Amino acid sequence: MNTFADLGLSDQILRAVTDKGYEIPSPIQAQAIPPVLEGRDVLAAAQTGTGKTAGFTLPILHKLSENPSRNNRRVVRSLVMTPTRELAAQIKANIDEYGSHLDFKSLVVFGGVGINPQINKLRAGVDMLVATPGRLLDLCQQRACDLSNVEILVLDEADRMLDMGFINDIKKVMNYIPKKRQTLLFSATFSKEIKTIAKQFLTNPVTVEVAAQNTTAERVEQRAYRCDQSTKADLAIHLIKQGEWNQVLIFTKTKHGANRLSDRIDKAGITSSAIHGNKSQGARERALQGFKNNSVRVLVATDIAARGLDIAHLPHVINYELPNVPSDYVHRIGRTGRAGKSGEALSLVCNNERAFLKDIEKLISKKIPLLTEDGFAPDLWPDRMPSTSEVQREDAERKKQNRQQRGPRSPRGGGGGGGRGQGGGKPSSSGGRGGNNRSSTRRRRS
Ligand code: AMP
Repeated sequence: MNTFADLGLSDQILRAVTDKGYEIPSPIQAQAIPPVLEGRDVLAAAQTGTGKTAGFTLPILHKLSENPSRNNRRVVRSLVMTPTRELAAQIKANIDEYGSHLDFKSLVVFGGVGINPQINKLRAGVDMLVATPGRLLDLCQQRACDLSNVEILVLDEADRMLDMGFINDIKKVMNYIPKKRQTLLFSATFSKEIKTIAKQFLTNPVTVEVAAQNTTAERVEQRAYRCDQSTKADLAIHLIKQGEWNQVLIFTKTKHGANRLSDRIDKAGITSSAIHGNKSQGARERALQGFKNNSVRVLVATDIAARGLDIAHLPHVINYELPNVPSDYVHRIGRTGRAGKSGEALSLVCNNERAFLKDIEKLISKKIPLLTEDGFAPDLWPDRMPSTSEVQREDAERKKQNRQQRGPRSPRGGGGGGGRGQGGGKPSSSGGRGGNNRSSTRRRRS
C-alpha cells in the first residue's frame, strides 16, 4: 500500500491530502489508518513529527462522513483530548484542512480564554471537538458540553497528559463518554503508566509502533558544546550568528530564563520572542506567527509551551539547558527534522548538566558528540563528573538561597504562576508520573 488511495479513504479526503501536498502516507499513517477504518481500538507509539495527526484525523473524518449522524443533527461524535493549547489549536487547524471538502464542523476548547464563547459554539453544534482535559471537564460539569454521542475518542500525546497531571481530569471526562466507542491512544513512549491507562480505556487494541521507543528523529544531527553557565547566552548568540541561522527554537528550563535570554538575544541584534505559560494566549500566538513568517529569528520556549508547535521544516533547535527528564530531550529535538526533513539539535552543557547528558545518551542509546567552541572553553570542567544527586542537592540549595534573598512572596504568588496549567486545565494534586516528582510541579507551570 503506497498511496493514500490504497488505504481506502474517500475522494473528498484524498483531495484534501493532495491540497496539502502529501504524496505518500507516512509510516504511522500507513499502519494506523486501516485499523481505525475497521473500527478497531489503536494503541500507537509515534514520535512527534511523524504525521500522527493525519494518522487519526483522516480515518475519523472518513468514518463520520460515511455514516451521517442520526437526524443529521450536529453532535460531538469524535473527541480529541490533547495536553496543550497550541497542540489543540494545531489539531483543529489540521482537521479543518483535511475536512475542507466535507460538510463538517470542528471546535477547539482550552483554558486561559473565556468559556462563554466556547459554550455558545458548542450549542450551535459541532461534529468533532478538540480539547485540553481541564477546560473540557469544566464544560462537562457545567452541562455545556454533551459527550454522550461520542463514537471515536482520541487520547493524543497521552504520555504528556500524564506528565502534566491530567489523569484525574481525563478519568472524570471518561464518565461523560459512552463506554461503547472506538478509542485511539497516541503516545511518544509506551511507559508502564501508558500501558496501564491503555488497559483501562482501550478494548483489544491493535498496537502500532513506528519507531523504537525513545529513539530520536533519525535525521536530526545532534551535537553538544561544553561551556560555563555564565557564557551560555554568548555562546548561543555566537552559534546563531556564525551559522547565519534564521529560524531557531531555544529551550530554557524556566519562564523567567526564557524572558531573560530572549531579551539578551534581541539586544544582540537577533530578533527574538519568548513563549511560555505566563504569556497570554494572544501574545503566544503573535510570537508563534512571527516565528513562522520569519519576522522573528529566535523563539525561546519552555518545554510545555513548545509541545504543540508544528513549524514546517524547523532547521535548528538549541537546548539552552538540558532537561533533567531525558524523554523531554526526545520531545524537544522532535521539533526539528519533522516529516522527513533534516535538522540540527545543539545542547549547551555546563558542568552541572553532564549527568543529564549521560542519562539522555543512555535513553537514546547514542553518544552525542561533545565539542568545545573556540573562545568558550569552560573554566569549570573537572575530571570527575558531579552525580545527578549532587547536582540536585546543589540546585535545591541555590534555590533556597535565592528565596531567602528575595524575602517572602506576596500571598498571590510573586512568581506569577498564572493560575491554570498550560493546557488550560486544573493540574491535579496527585501529580503526574509516579516516581518523577522532581519535575512534575515545575513542568505543569512552565
Ligand atoms: P504531526 O506529527 O501530525 O505533527 O505532523 C508533522 C508534520 O508532517 C506536519 O507538518 C504535517 O503537515 C506533515 N505531514 C503529515 N503527513 C504527511 C505526509 N504524508 N507527507 C508529508 N508531510 C506530512
